[in-house]
Amino acid sequence: MEKKQFQAESKRLLEMMINSIYTQKEIFLRELISNASDAIDKIYYKALTDQNLVFDKDNYYIKVIADKENRTLTIRDTGIGMTQEELESHLGIIAKSGSLAFKNENETKDGHAIIGQFGVGFYSAFMVADVVTVISKSVDSTQAYKWESTGADGYTIEPCEKESHGTDIILKIKENTEEESYDEYLDQYRLKAIIKKYSDFIRYPIKMDVSGQ
Ligand code: ADP
Ligand code: MG
Repeated sequence: MEKKQFQAESKRLLEMMINSIYTQKEIFLRELISNASDAIDKIYYKALTDQNLVFDKDNYYIKVIADKENRTLTIRDTGIGMTQEELESHLGIIAKSGSLAFKNENETKDGHAIIGQFGVGFYSAFMVADVVTVISKSVDSTQAYKWESTGADGYTIEPCEKESHGTDIILKIKENTEEESYDEYLDQYRLKAIIKKYSDFIRYPIKMDVSGQ
């Protein structure tokens, strides 16, 4: 399978995340939950004008799934999802206002100050994961796609199976090192505390599913 390259600017941001010595790595969860919430907002607004879509509140939620045995943490949403093109353009190229500010500030400040100030978005997942897999099905498509990356060396996209629309972000949590433990990001109590700290205001239910605890 062909490996696609990240846009140069995105690659820089990504490398900063991968090599991050930032102490507040926990903010990755805030970023992914915020994206999940945005994705549900989008389907909510689409349903207001699209006769074929019904927004039934009970079907819209975010789920955090921790699997200690497989060392994976999944952030699932039942939102709008992404087409193949959207996976490509939204995750391959980070060229939004936020990252532009990030880049300009970067000229004068170190990584610590920057990450605290801006929403750093999806790539923050690479602070705690060495593989990030995104399985997504757009509400406008019958085919689901899998986007996967091990970091700055690029990403792959291929068709896959997914029953209903929405997105699963699957993080393969890093192994502990001598300096740093990553196990906490698979621990249900720690995860609950992080969610309470940063995502208490999210208006959709955040469910949790744990195994091997
Ligand atoms: P931002 O949220 O500031 O736009 P991010 O880096 O967090 O930037 O996300 C980049 C883009 O990827 C989003 O704008 C959105 O289009 C897309 N995206 C990320 N996560 C999801 C998701 N769970 N569902 C649908 N789209 C997503
Ligand atoms: Mg975001």
